[in-house]
Amino acid sequence: MTIAVIGAGIAGAACASELVKQGLDVVVFDKGLSAGGRMSSKRTPDGYLDLGAQYFTARAAVFKRQCENWLTLGVITPWQGRLAIYENGTLCASPDQTTRYIGLPSMQKPVQQLLQQVKLNSPCRVDTIKYDGTHWQLYSDEQHLGHFSQLVIALPQQQAAMLLAEHLLQQPQLQALFNAEALLPCWSVNIELDAATSVPFDGIFVKGDNAVSWLARQNSKTGRAPGEQWLVHFSPAFSQLHLEADAAQISKVAVAELQRLLGEDISVMQTLCHRWRYAQQAPDYPVHSHIYRTDLSLGLCGDWLNGGRVENAWLSGYQLARALSYD
Ligand SMILES: Cc1cc2nc3c(=O)[nH]c(=O)nc-3n(C[C@H](O)[C@H](O)[C@H](O)COP(=O)(O)OP(=O)(O)OC[C@H]3O[C@@H](n4cnc5c(N)ncnc54)[C@H](O)[C@@H]3O)c2cc1C
Repeated sequence: MTIAVIGAGIAGAACASELVKQGLDVVVFDKGLSAGGRMSSKRTPDGYLDLGAQYFTARAAVFKRQCENWLTLGVITPWQGRLAIYENGTLCASPDQTTRYIGLPSMQKPVQQLLQQVKLNSPCRVDTIKYDGTHWQLYSDEQHLGHFSQLVIALPQQQAAMLLAEHLLQQPQLQALFNAEALLPCWSVNIELDAATSVPFDGIFVKGDNAVSWLARQNSKTGRAPGEQWLVHFSPAFSQLHLEADAAQISKVAVAELQRLLGEDISVMQTLCHRWRYAQQAPDYPVHSHIYRTDLSLGLCGDWLNGGRVENAWLSGYQLARALSYD
């Protein structure tokens, strides 16, 4: 039995890695140049910058074990950033002592570690999938990629919907997963300053603000670009409203917002802007863990099915692999 996994984010990688451990034959396809998905840090001439996932936490015992393994292998490390909450114009130290991990030297490192023993075909965008009742046929740009006895789709909700469109018409139960939007957008801007700020914090949760949701001093993270690098994440509401805005315009707003929230004058050397169309979980989308349809030899996993975040994406892929391999 050969299994195709579409998507080499943390969910697809966790699923593929577990299936390979069970002795199954697996091929992973990803449209990106390398694996990582939303955990990918941007490589710049000066070093890595985290424009997507900032850190991850571990609550479930099975994921804690995975993190211990990554710590031993040196692909993750705890982030010792000093955290704060900005609310009603006031900046206060956060009492939250949860351990937060980052990939070393970039966020995608743990994803790449999971895929070390797995066949990865990238960059390869799968654009057509066909099911003949026993096998899935996959295509990219009309090129046949192979036929597979099981198919795992480990993509963000909206991208999974596009790939499954034809099949969903005949599958009302599957269709129901796509009726409400699970993932909301995020504009992300890194701002390099020419001098260090005096703010005594490295990560700031911005609460109750119309525009910004998170600020982080990237150079407080091991392995990231040196210099004073501040990241601004805009809120889902702001990002949705300005989804089609020009990146230069968003960068300008980010600089003004950083100055307002830090409460001091800043001098900007350069900015780097990225729009995530499908970023973080809509709070009211239901939790499914994963989906496995034996009648269609089809599995779905990803953060959006399991409450969002890195840990839940990993758990979704891992749990789908367990379901598939015990079938
Ligand atoms: C701005 C931002 C900040 C975040 N901050 C945090 C945080 O601090 N902590 C936290 O825990 N989580 C955070 N998250 C969420 C976290 O990044 C995600 O929950 C997790 O990385 C999702 O993993 P995934 O495997 O489900 O999906 P993805 O990482 O999106 O993986 C999907 C993969 O599918 C590939 N793909 C898409 N279409 C195709 C196709 N047709 N063919 C082939 N390949 C395809 C993509 O290239 C991608 O690699 C953040 C996300 C964003 C965007």
